[in-house]
Order: sequence, then C-alpha cells, then structure tokens
Amino acid sequence: MELHILSLPPLGANCYLLKLPGRPDGLVIDPGGAPETVANACRELGMTPAAILLTHGHFDHVGGVEGLLKTYPGLPIYAHPGDLSQPFAPSDLFPLASASLSSWKALHDNETLSIAEIELHVFCTPGHSKGSVVFRAEDRLFTGDTLFCGSMGRTDFPGGSVGEMIASLKRLGELEGDCKVYPGHDRPTTLDSERRSNPYMVEAMAR
Ligand SMILES: [Zn+2]
Ligand SMILES: [Zn+2]
Repeated sequence: MELHILSLPPLGANCYLLKLPGRPDGLVIDPGGAPETVANACRELGMTPAAILLTHGHFDHVGGVEGLLKTYPGLPIYAHPGDLSQPFAPSDLFPLASASLSSWKALHDNETLSIAEIELHVFCTPGHSKGSVVFRAEDRLFTGDTLFCGSMGRTDFPGGSVGEMIASLKRLGELEGDCKVYPGHDRPTTLDSERRSNPYMVEAMAR
C-alpha cells in the first residue's frame, strides 16, 4: 500500500493519502484546510479520490472537505454522526455540523469498509470528541486526535470526555500485535512504543 503524508494548515493536521500500487483511485484521510494542496498531491500521484474519511469533525481536519467536493463532485464523505449532529456543537469547531453534506455516509463501530480495494476497519474511540474514530488498514492505525506519539488528544472540547478517552486508549492498547501509528498531528509512532512509554496509554491499560 502506498502512503503519502501532507501536513496542512491551519494547525498542521496530518492528511493521509492511501492507494494500492497500480490502482487509479485511493483514499483521503482528514483533508485539513487546504483542498488545493490535497487535490494537487492526488494529481501528482495519479490518484482519483474514491472517498474522504474523517477521524473526527474538528475544523483543522475537515476544512478541505467542501473544496474537494467542488473538485470531485459526489465524493463520499465517511464520518461518525457524533461530530455532525451535536446540537451543542459550535460551528467554528465542527464546521460540517451545519453544512448540508449530500454525500455523507455514517461510520459504525467495528465495521470494515472496502474502498478502492483497501480494507479499512473502524474503531469508534470517543474522548477527544463524540465522533472520533480510528481506522486500521493492514498494520497501520490512523488515530486522529485520539492517540499521539507520547500523548493523547485534548478532552476539554465540547463532546470530549476523559473517561471515554481512557477507555478508547485501553481499547487501542489491547489490540493484538504491533501497528504503525499515524496520528492527526506530529510524527508517526508504533503501538508497541506507545504501550511502553505513553503515560496516558500506560495508565489506561492498567485499569
Ligand atoms: Zn481534534
Ligand atoms: Zn487536530
């Protein structure tokens, strides 16, 4: 599987482009706030997006959605309803909550999607936000703002919960085997490394 990483404004969120060699299509995970940059990277890779997948609904991860829909009309957007249907969600933090997304598809816990011949398993991991999810593709985890290298996402935004975050980190920590971890910000890491030295994951797994 080919993986390309873009760090995008406004807050340096990581956008991940995934495709299988020889396939003309692929996936966009978290298109940040720079749709032109994402579209140009797709063109350079010879990749037509088959779907956008969102780890959660915060503005720094989803700002590029509407721009990409103009370039690729009808592109399916996969997201968890928890971040798109919050009555209390401020629209500057969750900009898609108020947008009318005709091509939106709801993610469900423990489902496996197959898009562009890539199998993606979905783990619902609330804590940073109600609708936070982690995607697994082969031995790669895309953890959004749930798990960072040596840290975890904030829990003080609307919809956040320390208790839910600890349970989500425990669930990730208890997955079988090692995985490469690609977080929503900062550098990649591995699950084994986080199990050993991430104080939040260590605490979560001791519960
Ligand atoms: Zn976030
Ligand atoms: Zn973020």
